[in-house]
Amino acid sequence: AKEQGKNKYNVFHTGMNMQTYRSFIMQNDLRKAIENEELELYYQPRINLQNQQVLGAEALIRWNHPNWGIVRPNEFIPLAEETGQIIPIGEWVLRSVCEQICSWENTELSPIRIAVNFSAKQFLQVDLIERIQQILDETQVNPQLLEIEITESVLLKNEELTLKTLQLLRKMGISISIDDFGTGYSSLHYLSHLPLNSLKIDQSFVQGITENERKNKSIITSIISLAKSLNLSVIAEGVETTEQLHFLASQNCDEIQGYLCSPPVPALQFIEAIQNNAFV
Ligand code: C2E
Ligand code: CA
Ligand code: CA
Ligand code: CA
Repeated sequence: AKEQGKNKYNVFHTGMNMQTYRSFIMQNDLRKAIENEELELYYQPRINLQNQQVLGAEALIRWNHPNWGIVRPNEFIPLAEETGQIIPIGEWVLRSVCEQICSWENTELSPIRIAVNFSAKQFLQVDLIERIQQILDETQVNPQLLEIEITESVLLKNEELTLKTLQLLRKMGISISIDDFGTGYSSLHYLSHLPLNSLKIDQSFVQGITENERKNKSIITSIISLAKSLNLSVIAEGVETTEQLHFLASQNCDEIQGYLCSPPVPALQFIEAIQNNAFV
């Protein structure tokens, strides 16, 4: 990654290509994105397959860039990780979600748990717990309504620190799920020793249900049975078709998330759809 960084500047001097130019501007503009209020959270519902209810949602960040319009996180989160901007951005995300949960708590809606994505760099900050506790204190959010999504790769980075952090988060009342499950390397040993709440089956398996039927179906079946045996709940992400939905329901998957129910939408639209029962 360091070598790539060097190349970037060489290219800059000799005539940058468009993508590199865009990344360069982006890194710079990202520093002002929070204070210029250009960041926004979209919410995608999770539907519980037992009772067809929306009991949770995932918060997904968007950047409303003044010249480019909406920039997706796959483009700017990796840059933010490189520059360290992910730390203030991550705090902004967590604080905003806590405030959102509090504002929804006084409505007649049933409580909805919101999941927040944490990147590896953010999760492995030494003072993570203090920072999270500060946001909980400030916003007075009910931590039971908060979930943190981390990927499998985080579990392997610094095992001791990770275990301690997960234990403390659970003590605080926050739930933990493993994102993109099945794409990384997780040993059964870690899975059974870590205080986790749920696994999210990666969307590549879900979308493969039609294309590469047998293989993807058996992977999904094994992930679900693994989760059940570890007492974890299972969420399938990227569900786009009723065929996928039916297969997941037949395997007793607990929750689904995907375009079939709704794409991620701005907070107002999300809450309107819930009030109108529009997701199910
Ligand atoms: P992810 O956490 O795996 O999120 C799922 C991605 O799949 C989201 O893309 C979502 O919009 C998309 N998706 C949901 N349902 C479907 C579907 O049915 N079909 C398809 N094809 N896609 C679907 P998005 O919002 O562009 O986010 C991309 C990634 O950026 C996320 O992947 C996550 O890793 C990262 N990200 C998003 N928000 C944050 C954040 O606040 N903090 C951090 N650190 N990372 C974030
Ligand atoms: Ca996620
Ligand atoms: Ca995911
Ligand atoms: Ca992902």
